[in-house]
Amino acid sequence: MHCPFCVAEDTKVIDSRLVANGDQVRRRRECLSCSERFTTYEVAELLMPKLIKNNGSREPFDEAKLRSGILRALEKRPVGEEQIEAAITQIKHSLRSTGERELKSRVVGEMVMNALRELDDVAYVRFASVYRSFQDLSEFQEEIERLRAAPAKAAEQTAEN
Ligand SMILES: [Zn+2]
Repeated sequence: MHCPFCVAEDTKVIDSRLVANGDQVRRRRECLSCSERFTTYEVAELLMPKLIKNNGSREPFDEAKLRSGILRALEKRPVGEEQIEAAITQIKHSLRSTGERELKSRVVGEMVMNALRELDDVAYVRFASVYRSFQDLSEFQEEIERLRAAPAKAAEQTAEN
C-alpha cells in the first residue's frame, strides 16, 4: 500500500504478527522513500447473513442495533462490559456459522434472548417481555427509539419498573 506520509508506492513489512486471538494480522511497515513507519491491520471479511423481517423485507445485519437492544435490556444491571462484548461476539459468530445468506430476523432475537438468559435473569425477562410483543428486532428497535425521542414518557415507564 502507499505510504500515508509521502504517498510513495513502495513500503516494506518489517514485522508481522497475529493479534486478537489470531483473528487479525498486525503489520509494521516502513516506507522505502521517507522511512516513516506505520501499522496496518488485516482482518478476514466475513459476510453476515441478511435479515428477513416479518413483512418480508430484507435488511443488513446491524451490530449497533444489536448492541443497543442488549444494552437497553441490561440497563443498571450488574453485567460487565466484557461479558456483554463476549455475548455480542458469540451472537455474530453464531450468525456467520449458519452459513446462510439470509435469516429470519427473529433468529437474532432468539439468540439475544438466549444470551441474556445466561447473563442476567432480569435483563432476560425485560427483553423477552418487550420483544415478544413485537414482530422482530427492527420493530423492537423502533419502539426503543420512539421511547428515547419522548424522554418524559420513557422516564415514567422507568419509574414504574
Ligand atoms: Zn513515505
